[in-house]
Amino acid sequence: MTIQRLAILGSTGSIGCSTLDVVDRHPERYRVVGLSAYHRTGQLIEQCLRHRPLVAVVPTEAAAAEVRSALREAGLATAVRSGAEALCELAARDDVDSVMAAIVGAAGLRPCLAAARAGKRLLLANKEALVVGGALFVAAVEQGGATLLPIDSEHSAIFQCLPEDRSSWARRIDHIVLTASGGPFRSADPATLDAVTPAQAVAHPNWVMGRKISVDSATMMNKALEVIEARWLFDLAPEQIRVVIHPQSIIHSMVVCRDGSVLAQLGTPDMKVPIAYGLAYPERIESGAPRLDFPTLQPLTFEPPDPRRFPGLQLAWDALRAAPGTTAVLNAANEVAVEAFLAGALRYTAIHRVIATTLETLVPGLAPDHDLDDLLDLDARARAAANAALKEVAR
Ligand code: NAD
Ligand code: MG
Repeated sequence: MTIQRLAILGSTGSIGCSTLDVVDRHPERYRVVGLSAYHRTGQLIEQCLRHRPLVAVVPTEAAAAEVRSALREAGLATAVRSGAEALCELAARDDVDSVMAAIVGAAGLRPCLAAARAGKRLLLANKEALVVGGALFVAAVEQGGATLLPIDSEHSAIFQCLPEDRSSWARRIDHIVLTASGGPFRSADPATLDAVTPAQAVAHPNWVMGRKISVDSATMMNKALEVIEARWLFDLAPEQIRVVIHPQSIIHSMVVCRDGSVLAQLGTPDMKVPIAYGLAYPERIESGAPRLDFPTLQPLTFEPPDPRRFPGLQLAWDALRAAPGTTAVLNAANEVAVEAFLAGALRYTAIHRVIATTLETLVPGLAPDHDLDDLLDLDARARAAANAALKEVAR
């Protein structure tokens, strides 16, 4: 067996830690070449001591100096780099086979593109990168000869239900059904949502995740991003993507075939399963996730998402049908609004108003042959528009 050499971007996050957990179970299969963190350098130092990577990347030179001296003291030769360019270099290194993209937000787009262009196996948890990158991202994967493997549990489920030969997907799929847990406010009275606090919003009933995606799950903007992600991963038309609430999070998503047959992937809600699948694809390895016990399983139930509780969900299909770049605007506005909400500067229900106002006020104006700089410029303009909307809405 050849050893897979791995770079984990965002190794201190929820997905990053779960990835290291799976990797730890298979020392004969994986070698950690690079790690990166934005906050929590102490945790990064611990990860370096355990996995002895060749490179570690942090955001600033000050953080790099701190990590460097701690690792030197421990006798480690790990090179410590800083800045966004260093992340791209790590993602494209010759001695890296696979890149786990586990950064949160549009900040992950550049390193994802670098990995795609360098032809890596790209394990994509960072859905925002694909939502912003869209056609450009897919083209980079094709041109670079990269293998794009979904890590998001719903997209991993769809991927696991499809044959390896991608050329047959279009003939096979009638539509897909993404399942959603409905989050902590699935059955809340919409009138009470105004008073929701950050602590309530991040308390997810089934999954333990980073704070941003937890808020996105509460608003179902996470599912909106996933609809857009599915459009690009599986080359589907917007009307081929449907969403159903399944509060138990046991069925992770479904493919409805042309003949009416429905294929589903099931498991306990644990990200180590899709991570292990991405790492080992097309093989299967132990993930460490708890197993389903059918005799004791609670009933699996389904319900349609309520637009009064989740007004943002529909924006996914609207944005996919709107001018190119609209999904990048939606993503940027959501990032700005969620950050403000988590900082206590915005009411929960105003998250949607900031996104809707930003989408109404900003015309993306992307040319069909746009490049990365155009996308980053659009992302910056959308953040400025969202910040203006935020001031307006918070008044
Ligand atoms: P997290 O907040 O727990 O971790 C994010 C990681 O990215 C951390 O290591 C952090 O230091 C780093 N980071 C943050 N901002 C950065 C920046 N500007 N530049 C570089 N690095 C930065 O997030 P998470 O829950 O692990 O989610 C990571 C990604 O995976 C997100 O895109 C999320 O939507 C996706 N995802 C997560 C889950 C989950 O269960 N947590 C499931 C599906 C998809
Ligand atoms: Mg998901």
